[in-house]
This record gives sequence, structure tokens and C-alpha cells, in this order.
Amino acid sequence: MRILGPHDVLADADAQPAQSEFIDEFADLLEATGRDALLARREVDERLRLAVESARIGTFDFDPRSGRLEWSDRCKEILGFPFDEEISYASFLEGICSEDRERVGQAVVTALDPYGDGALDVEYRIVLRDGASRWVIAKGRAIFAGAGPDRAPVRFIGTILDNTERHRHEERATLLADAAAALGASLDDEVMLLGMARSACRRFASAVLVDVVADDGGRIERRIALERAPQRSMLMSLARNLAPEPIRRGAGDPATAAIRDQRTVRLDRLADAGPEAARPSPQYELLRELGAHSLIAAPLVARGRALGAVTFLRYEGSATFDDADLITAEELADRTATAIDNAQLYHAAVAANEAKSHFLASMSHELRTPLTAIIGYEELLADGITGPITEPQRQQLGRIKASASHLLSLIDEILTFARVESGSEWTQIEPVWVTDALEEAAALVAPLVGDRGLTLVVKASDDGIAVRTDRQKIRQILVNLLSNATKFTEEGTISLEACRDGREVCFRVSDTGIGIAPEHVAHIFEPFWQVEQRATRRIAGTGLGLTVSRRLAQLLGGDLTVVSRVGAGSIFSLRLPLDA
Ligand code: ADP
Repeated sequence: MRILGPHDVLADADAQPAQSEFIDEFADLLEATGRDALLARREVDERLRLAVESARIGTFDFDPRSGRLEWSDRCKEILGFPFDEEISYASFLEGICSEDRERVGQAVVTALDPYGDGALDVEYRIVLRDGASRWVIAKGRAIFAGAGPDRAPVRFIGTILDNTERHRHEERATLLADAAAALGASLDDEVMLLGMARSACRRFASAVLVDVVADDGGRIERRIALERAPQRSMLMSLARNLAPEPIRRGAGDPATAAIRDQRTVRLDRLADAGPEAARPSPQYELLRELGAHSLIAAPLVARGRALGAVTFLRYEGSATFDDADLITAEELADRTATAIDNAQLYHAAVAANEAKSHFLASMSHELRTPLTAIIGYEELLADGITGPITEPQRQQLGRIKASASHLLSLIDEILTFARVESGSEWTQIEPVWVTDALEEAAALVAPLVGDRGLTLVVKASDDGIAVRTDRQKIRQILVNLLSNATKFTEEGTISLEACRDGREVCFRVSDTGIGIAPEHVAHIFEPFWQVEQRATRRIAGTGLGLTVSRRLAQLLGGDLTVVSRVGAGSIFSLRLPLDA
């Protein structure tokens, strides 16, 4: 037999195996007979007592024949009894919370059953005299004497371990994970708050109220009133409509005070007349009617701003909130506030983006009208309709036309971007021969490619590929890619190819130009983004071409990607489904 040393049982968290080991050894010892064993027993008993006490494990020893029941001091401490008090089995059972009491009683009866294995292993919650809860694990072993019908328990020994810390830790971790999942599941604050309140009701509180500060900053609105089990539905619907007092007025209800002072409020024994009760308020009356005897109102604070408060209630019969609960409540409130704040920031960003698209759309439209007039009048002059023009005048008119057309294409790009962003871009699907699409795009950029002294190569792997897609949009994307390839290539070849790949068609625009560094590749599809380089400063552009091209590709059910190497060139691939 190995004697248990203090080191075997010290660490509370891992004490459970040691607990069973101790019981086994104690049982062996008790079964041992003879003088030596008795002498040894006293010594070992003392050593075990010291080891067990230092491991903060309590021991009990019950003699079923005499009914004598002994609890160690540590046991009394765990169970919340004074050291000088005798604890009867009945008063021990009374300390166990009502949900667990019958189960523990049954486990003891089973352990003492002469035909069983005599083992006890049960976890339960006890309610201390101050209302706090404690979780304990009891392990024990009954020793039997006699055989057959005479077999009976002669001794029942065991240990009690305070498992509250670990239990709380696990409960808290589960609650926070649960609440975080609920808060992350949506960007709608109504859904987020309800999810958080549900998690809290499941594991932490009998009921949860959530209040938020209204836009005018003084009024408080009640958003959620939820209870664990629908016991007091009438009162709950009253609670749902009874917002706390506004911030400006008086000392305020718990939620009001929490919001105003940005500090957590904890109240116990709500039924007793407290200082707040002297000043009757409908909110306090309702809380008392609900039977809430313990309350924590934690402010929802994000970036220094109180957005509201969450109030956790515990009804009569459940434990009052303690210091550890206060920390949990504050953590829940913090996570909730951050989630609401993030959602608000997201909604603000979406609204700002919509405003930007709206602005771009209306500005572009306003600019387009006079520009069309400029181009129209230039054509009238150039055609000599209003009288003959000299050669220098014709050249200047040519420059006016080139600049106006360039400006028009930039405005059109912005307009398309604004339409795609606001979701108002439509597609017109029709059968398109891939070779036609290649030729149209090539014809549009050919003069530009020629001017730059580059070669344009166009080829389709198969003449007979047809797709159902938006003809104009394919052209717009390909012209965009080809213009970029021309802009960013000093010498060499630009090639435009197409081939079928399963249920898709793949267009490829390659160049032998300056290429794009890996750190820039991820950004080139972002709106208004341009690689800071001499070429872009020299060559006018909006930084929208690739953004629009990719969005249009996605609108047609495909995508646009790139591979590139600095100094070697770039390959842009446009993949589209055969049938958009
Ligand atoms: P813009 O051409 O109007 O500047 P884009 O969205 O079409 O805007 O392109 C974004 C940036 O990506 C360009 O400014 C350029 O830096 C880079 N880029 C695009 N195509 C190429 C290319 N073929 N070769 C090198 N860089 C390119």
C-alpha cells in the first residue's frame, strides 16, 4: 500500500483521481486486521488527514450501525456549516439545492445497497445560508460485512471536494462563447440583443432586460424583456413596454443609473425596502412584482459612449449574484456593446458608400450632358456646316474632340461603377459568338495599339464557341483590359485569346509590359486604386477600370483574375459561364 503524500493531492483542479485513491487506501486500511495494522492505521490516518486537509478536500465517515456521522472541519467549511455544529444527514440534504437533492439521496441509497459496488460519485449544487451557490463533488465507498442475507454496510467513508471554481469557469466560458456566437450571427441589433439575452437566460439569469439610449440622448427605450421560463408572461409584457426613466430625471432606475454613470449597479434583496424603494418608481415596483431579488445592471459602453444597459435578474429561489457574477455580467455587456458598435459602424459605412455612389451617379449624369453638346458642336464645326474652316482650326477641333471623348469615357466608367455599386446595373443576355466578341474589342483598341508601336495578336481556339451573355459588357471588359495592357507596355505584344474550358469560356489578355508587384496585385481591383508609378501619373485613368470589369464579370456569373511578374508582363483572365 502506498501512503498518499500531500503532493499527490495538492492541486485542487486535479484532485479528483487523488480523491478516489484516498478512498481506496482508506478502505483497504479499514479492512486490514491485526495489531500492526491498527497501529499503522493511527499513523497513516493522521498523515492522510493532513494530506487531505491541505488538498482542501473534506472527509466524512458514517457508521450505519450506530448512525454516527462525522464530518471533517474542511467538510463543514465546504458545506457552509459552522465548525461547532453537528451536521445530521437530514440537514446535509437540506443544504442541497432542490433540483439536485433527490438525486444525491438516491446515490447514497445506491452506495449503501448490500448488492451494489458501494461506490458514490455525485456532483451537486448546495445553497449556502447567504444564498450563494457552491458546486461539490462527493465520492465515497461503503464497506460491507457478512455474506448472503446478512451482508450489510458497516462503514461509509468518502470525500467532498469544492468544485465551484472549475464549475464557474466552465459555465462562464460556455456562456461567453454562446453569447459571442449569438452576437456575431447578425448585423441587426434586434437579433443580436435577443441572441445575447437568450444565452444569458439559459445559463446566468432568470430574466434579462435590455435598454438602449434613444437618438435624442436622454430617452431610454426598452428593446428586450425576456425570461428563462415563461412563468410571468403578463408581467414580462408589461416590462417590455416600461422603459426606464430618462437620464435627465432624478436618481433613476438601475438601468438609467448604469447608463448615466457608466457604472455597473448591483442590488440584492430588492423586496426589502432599500434606499431606492423610498422613492417609488414603476420600474422598481415591476421588478419586485416579478419576484426579482437580485439584480445587475451593466452599462453597454463602446468607445466611451454609453449605448444602453443590460439588466440581469434572478428571481426568488435562485442564488443572488456574487462578485464573480458581476465580472461575468460586465464581460457580457462589453461584448454586446462592441458588437452593437461594430454593427452601427458597418451600417454607417454602407450608408456613406451609398451616398457616394448616389453622388457619383448624379454628378456624372450632370457632366455628361454638356460634354455631349461640346462633342456635337465640334462635329458641326468640323463638318463645315456653319462655314468653311482652316487647316489649323481643323487640327484644334480634332484635339477638342479627342479630349472630350476621353473625358466622356471616364465619366461613363464612373457612371457604370455607381450603377454596379448601387445594384442598378442590368444585363441583357443574348447569344454571342466568341470570335465576334474578340474582333469587336480588337477593332476598338487597334488604333491605340498601333500608335504605341505594339503588335496585337488575336486568336480563338475554336471558331464555333457561342455563349449566352451580355455582349456589351464583354466588350467593355475586354476593351478595358486591352487599353490597360497597351497603357502599361512599352514594347512587345498584346495578345487576346479565348478558349472553352468545360462549362466556361476563358478570355485571356496578356502583355509584355511593366507587370504588377505582388504587394499591389491584391489592390488593383479596389476602386480608385492605382499603383503609384510614373506610368500612371503620365497616363490618365480613374483607377476604376478593373473594379468595374471585375464587378461586371461577377454580374455575368464569372470572375476576373490576374497573374503578373514585374518586368515580364501580366495575364488577365476573364472566365464566364457558357450560359449567364
Ligand atoms: P486605371 O487604369 O484607370 O488606373 P484600373 O483599375 O484599370 O485603373 O487599373 C488599376 C491599376 O492597376 C493601374 O493604375 C495600374 O497601376 C495597374 N494595372 C492595370 N493593368 C495593368 C497592366 N496590364 N500592367 C501593369 N499594371 C496594370
